[in-house]
Amino acid sequence: RAKTAGKNQFQLFDEETDRMHVRKLELERDLRKALANKELRIYYQPKWDAERNCISGMEALLRWEHPRLGMVSPAEFIPIAEETGLIVSITRWVLIEVCRQNRSWQQRDLVHVCVSVNMSIRVFESSMLCEMVEEALMESGIEPGDLELEITESIAMYDVQDTIRQLQHLKGLGVRVSMDDFGTGYSSLGNLDEIPIDALKIDQMFIRQSAQPSKQAIISTIIAIAAHLKLEVVAEGVETEEQIGFLQSRGCRMMQGYYYGKPMDVDALESWLLSKGGNVSKSIS
Ligand code: C2E
Ligand code: MG
Ligand code: MG
Ligand code: MG
Repeated sequence: RAKTAGKNQFQLFDEETDRMHVRKLELERDLRKALANKELRIYYQPKWDAERNCISGMEALLRWEHPRLGMVSPAEFIPIAEETGLIVSITRWVLIEVCRQNRSWQQRDLVHVCVSVNMSIRVFESSMLCEMVEEALMESGIEPGDLELEITESIAMYDVQDTIRQLQHLKGLGVRVSMDDFGTGYSSLGNLDEIPIDALKIDQMFIRQSAQPSKQAIISTIIAIAAHLKLEVVAEGVETEEQIGFLQSRGCRMMQGYYYGKPMDVDALESWLLSKGGNVSKSIS
């Protein structure tokens, strides 16, 4: 009896693995056409300055509207895009789209902030990033300071010195750089001061658990590191007033999370901006 149950369980597990494998193959095949078929969407999530009570920036987050499978999360398809190398052409498209969109908001006086784009380590490896960024800036005509690149500690898994060289070139253009998901990656703190960045983003895992004294200690330490290195600090995944109160008491004023706004498509974002009235267009420092 027990043996049969065990075998059934094993078969169930097997079927589940098969299903996931088939889905992955399907996504891999379809991702090649997703760009050309215009199935990729860019959502925007606001970053909020809790001290001045105004928007301080936005983050571009990709979505894939698969014709048969519905919305596919970037957590699922970005790794596939990285494995297949498609991430380079996808990132080029995101950079151009984001800069164009930002230009349009500026021209219509809707909002004037810096918009960030997530960067995969594969794009640094391809050595195409600088060229792609210059192309997007030229084509859109936005100021380089209105574009930010979010990198992660995984850059330590590639050639750190080469990444630093590329980042220095981008910083030379005037583009902003932030370190995403800070505190969860592989890098040691050893070379944080050598990586040319403007901001640290505290990973949402810490914010979610910020009622725990030990996590509070880690958050405070990250805020202190940022202050010492003269970096801005942004809290990710902010969902409650308790979290905001705690973060502000420790000197973190930049927030991003569902409490302020979820990632939204352009229409929803523009309605959101209008609902905030005067707290948007004057926000750039
Ligand atoms: P990330 O850059 O750390 O983005 C933050 C993620 O947290 C987003 O998930 C966002 O929707 C979610 N989030 C924001 N506020 C809250 C909150 O208050 N509560 C909770 N529970 N979640 C919140 P999303 O959009 O699913 O993106 C997941 C990851 O996919 C991103 O993490 C980023 O690493 C990657 N990604 C997204 N777009 C791109 C892209 O264009 N290029 C690359 N290379 N990666 C991307
Ligand atoms: Mg990010
Ligand atoms: Mg993050
Ligand atoms: Mg993340």
